Amino acid sequence: MNLADKIRTIPDFPKEGIAFKDITTLLKDPAAYKEAINRIAERYESKDIDLILGIEARGFLIGAPLALKLDKGFVPVRKEGKLPGDVVKTEYDLEYGSNIIEIHKDAIEQGAKVLIVDDLLATGGTVKATVDLVEQLGGEVVEIAFLMELGFLDGREKIGDYEVFSLIIDE
Ligand code: IMP
Repeated sequence: MNLADKIRTIPDFPKEGIAFKDITTLLKDPAAYKEAINRIAERYESKDIDLILGIEARGFLIGAPLALKLDKGFVPVRKEGKLPGDVVKTEYDLEYGSNIIEIHKDAIEQGAKVLIVDDLLATGGTVKATVDLVEQLGGEVVEIAFLMELGFLDGREKIGDYEVFSLIIDE
């Protein structure tokens, strides 16, 4: 199945000039959703991973089914003020303004091998901030996985020296 065909592009969302990749059309199609998760899972079946970290909100939709399939625990990275326990947080720049994300302090043990998951890699700012949080807690980022990557935005350069896997790449 060509999974790229299952993702639609919405022009001028959330603002003029942005061509937004909408994955809801893939999620709605049970065969496509299952194939996407199975194909990402295949890559990690034999890798040494302790837990899967998903980034709010669409990263949960990829990370949680992946965690179940691989029999790993799932840890949410959330926007500020959503997690009830003690957190570590980091702020990162968006095109306009900034954003704060948080993880529970006790979610990652020293030396834990972490797979970070999000739906889409654009400029790489969100995932870079997530890497910083994992490392603040003493976790080791094994790899970073995306359903889709916008290759032309060069997000991989911002992420730096980490393994990055994207199931679908829009060059
Ligand atoms: P980055 O920080 O620029 O890499 O942006 C990635 C974050 O923004 C991810 O959490 C995505 O969910 C979201 N994002 C950015 N552009 C899109 C898009 O076109 N479709 C879906 N999500 C997007």
